[in-house]
Amino acid sequence: MARKRIIVLGGGIGGMVVANQLRKRLSGEHQVIVVERNPRHYFAPSYVWLAMGWRKQETISRELSRLLSRGVQLIQGEISRIDIGEKRIFVGEDEVRYDYMVMALGAELTPPSIPGLPEAAYSFYEVSEAQRLRDALASFDGGRVALVVAGLPYKCPAAPYEGVLLADYLFRKKGIRDNVQMEMFVPEPAPMPVAGPAAGQMIHELLQGREIGYHPRHRLKTVDPAKKQVTFEDDATAEYDMLITIPPHRCPEVVASSGLTNESGWVPVDQRTLQTSAEGVYALGDMTTITLASGMPLPKAGVFAHGEAHVVARNIAADIAGIPGSARHTFNGDGACFLETGFGKAAYATGNFYAEPNADIKLRKPSFRWHWGKILFEKRWLRGWF
Ligand SMILES: Cc1cc2nc3c(=O)[nH]c(=O)nc-3n(C[C@H](O)[C@H](O)[C@H](O)COP(=O)(O)OP(=O)(O)OC[C@H]3O[C@@H](n4cnc5c(N)ncnc54)[C@H](O)[C@@H]3O)c2cc1C
Repeated sequence: MARKRIIVLGGGIGGMVVANQLRKRLSGEHQVIVVERNPRHYFAPSYVWLAMGWRKQETISRELSRLLSRGVQLIQGEISRIDIGEKRIFVGEDEVRYDYMVMALGAELTPPSIPGLPEAAYSFYEVSEAQRLRDALASFDGGRVALVVAGLPYKCPAAPYEGVLLADYLFRKKGIRDNVQMEMFVPEPAPMPVAGPAAGQMIHELLQGREIGYHPRHRLKTVDPAKKQVTFEDDATAEYDMLITIPPHRCPEVVASSGLTNESGWVPVDQRTLQTSAEGVYALGDMTTITLASGMPLPKAGVFAHGEAHVVARNIAADIAGIPGSARHTFNGDGACFLETGFGKAAYATGNFYAEPNADIKLRKPSFRWHWGKILFEKRWLRGWF
């Protein structure tokens, strides 16, 4: 069997899992290389806790090299070009050739695409932003808080709701909730529409019970930092004293220029095998677009990147071993996620997103059990159990 080189682009959730699983399944003669710009891995599901002041940056991150299995080579640097035709990529100026490539480069956040947004808004979608929000929340003593989801699609459908519910809980603990007016604006018609009407209703009731105004079908157009005002596409406006946003997302530029994206701007893949249109090239996680039977896209979430990575690793290993295509593994669309609600509780959504005609998702109501489930998951992930 000829020696093969598999390169994994990105050392986030999908990239780490696929690299470690490949290393486990392939003999030592084959090379597994991860290319990643950041030396540290940050566990995104904990960002909302970081923003509330309940976690420190050090406790939700690890050196990437410590999380990768022995025998996985790490190239730290910026991927500057992907050349599908020649089966090579560039890290800065350096060329790296491949036999198989797994792309797991995630989604980029683009606050500057909304005029006024970068100057005006706080966020908890990046570690540095979550820390800035933590400091602002610590000194906030009242006023209008607007949480705005700036565009579609965005990572983790539950995260904006966690953000607003935990901020409400924080204000209650500080004894200032009576001085705070909370409003949430989202482009979608209902909370987490992919999870179905029952889940949406439960979240809506949670927001109502906590006196958080909910405004669906509001797509952000501009922000005026001087007037402290947001304007939506239908020209409706809202005033704020503190603006928290989920910034717009896009597929990383380096992927867009590789020619693998479609009209959605993301990379289409076979939803069962994660193969792209290019031979020997797979893509997984947030950078992909998968359309569900309902017509909605599969949400961008780590749980999917994780599950997809297992499938891709097994199939590349099978291909190298010469096992015929008919015996390949497939991703079945199962997913789950916690939704922190405060007061030591979390809700928990689980089900099959590939079910037809609609995803078959059950949202379990908030309990202490699911909150502890999320804490346990965080600990296990940062110990590299995947
Ligand atoms: C606040 C928040 C809460 C979340 N909570 C949950 C949750 O509870 N459950 C859940 O399932 N998901 C959650 N998610 C979503 C989850 O984090 C993402 O869906 C997941 O990380 C996607 O994995 P990925 O491998 O596709 O991309 P990522 O994990 O984003 O990894 C992409 C990697 O590629 C690297 N990269 C990109 N471009 C380049 C380049 N040019 N050169 C070198 N390296 C590059 C990046 O540095 C990054 O490390 C949350 C996200 C956020 C922001």
